[in-house]
Amino acid sequence: MRVVVIGTGPAGITAAATLRHLDPSGSVIALSTEPFPPYSPPALADHFLTGRDQALYWKGTDVAERLGIDERREAVVSAVDTDSREVVLADASRIPYEGLVIASGSRLYAPLDGADLPGVLDFKSLRTATELMGRVRRGEAHTALVVGNGLIGIELALLLSTLGVDTTIIGRRTWLMPRSLDPVTSAVAEAELVARGVTLRLGVQADAFIGTPSVTGVRLADGTVLSADLVIAATGVKPHTEFLDDSPIGTGWGIHVDDRLCTSVPGVVAAGDVAEAADWLTGEHYVHAIFPNAVAQAQIAAANLLGANRAYDGAESMNSLKHLGVPIVTIGTTDAPEEILRWQHKGVVRSLYLRHGRIIGAQLAGDIHGAGLYRSLMLRRTDVSAYGSRLVEPGFGIGDITWDALRAVPVSTTQ
Ligand SMILES: Cc1cc2nc3c(=O)[nH]c(=O)nc-3n(C[C@H](O)[C@H](O)[C@H](O)COP(=O)(O)OP(=O)(O)OC[C@H]3O[C@@H](n4cnc5c(N)ncnc54)[C@H](O)[C@@H]3O)c2cc1C
Repeated sequence: MRVVVIGTGPAGITAAATLRHLDPSGSVIALSTEPFPPYSPPALADHFLTGRDQALYWKGTDVAERLGIDERREAVVSAVDTDSREVVLADASRIPYEGLVIASGSRLYAPLDGADLPGVLDFKSLRTATELMGRVRRGEAHTALVVGNGLIGIELALLLSTLGVDTTIIGRRTWLMPRSLDPVTSAVAEAELVARGVTLRLGVQADAFIGTPSVTGVRLADGTVLSADLVIAATGVKPHTEFLDDSPIGTGWGIHVDDRLCTSVPGVVAAGDVAEAADWLTGEHYVHAIFPNAVAQAQIAAANLLGANRAYDGAESMNSLKHLGVPIVTIGTTDAPEEILRWQHKGVVRSLYLRHGRIIGAQLAGDIHGAGLYRSLMLRRTDVSAYGSRLVEPGFGIGDITWDALRAVPVSTTQ
């Protein structure tokens, strides 16, 4: 089959490699907006800190050549014509396809006045991160304002602070990574950020990026104006779907997909940050913008495009803060638990969220021992009530669990 893959991020390059593997005689054309080989965004901070690019180019810079993928860089898709089965590029050229994988990921989402001012920077892609870090390397930046207290904002703030830039994070909510961390776990991260020299202004609403002709700072809702050499938007991400506006491919916030990751149009599948995939716990469809989901979805979407008919078990929520100094891992959800088990001592917080005697989420800070075990028990929907509060204690491990509890139980998207 002749397949076009839109995107060479973790989802796109995984889909392309899977297609080559399952259909060696087919052809794969993979398109990206950027001038770089396929890269891994989670490795951006480490790349700029150390100069190493092995983890960044996680598939190798020669992946396309090695696998026989026709990889085209700076090839921006502007539309998809599903009647003629063609992808339309910004230069009006057309690429015919028999099958289409949409893995166009996400872009910065900054719903603030002045977000389009020249000089507003972001750390969402290698292209924008290179521009930002270029200013640091040239010695043009001594102070930075990072608007947004999510994972990307925190990773960037740590990087800048390590490089000697006096950095402030501005966050609307009163704790960090509000969608992933609970306030107790956040407190551990906050203490470490402050110890690393980052200034936190949480519970503060940024109203606008300001400056003429280019950005110089941020105006807060109370009228306060903060200025800095670098002004960075880390306010969230939005799936790249604009090029589908005139197509019949169904979209909402992201692309609508079924439990096979097929879109509303036959012969078109979607995976990664652009797809509204089912949640493994609730079955609810929304974008789960993390690397492991992008890779897993791409493998299934590519196989299904070739006729495999494989169901996707559902996306997980998982996060880790890699550069904090204190390990922090979050798994699953903290939504509507019936019970919270918590163990807390001197900078270590271990919390488990339970519903119907089963783990629905884990938050570990300072001591992440057992994270894999908790995830395993969660995915297997094992009844853990018998273990009581021992379950969350630092020493609890696989030796405390019966074999029956760990035996495979089908993972499905319904409870
Ligand atoms: C700084 C940073 C740190 C992160 N850290 C973590 C982490 O620690 N753990 C974790 O799990 N996740 C992390 N993430 C999130 C993770 O990187 C994403 O979930 C993952 O990259 C999604 O992969 P994707 O292929 O769906 O999309 P993307 O990586 O966004 O790739 C999208 C691809 O589509 C291409 N594209 C877009 N529009 C078009 C178009 N119109 N025409 C042609 N090509 C197009 C782009 O050029 C790109 O190649 C991090 C992200 C960032 C930015």
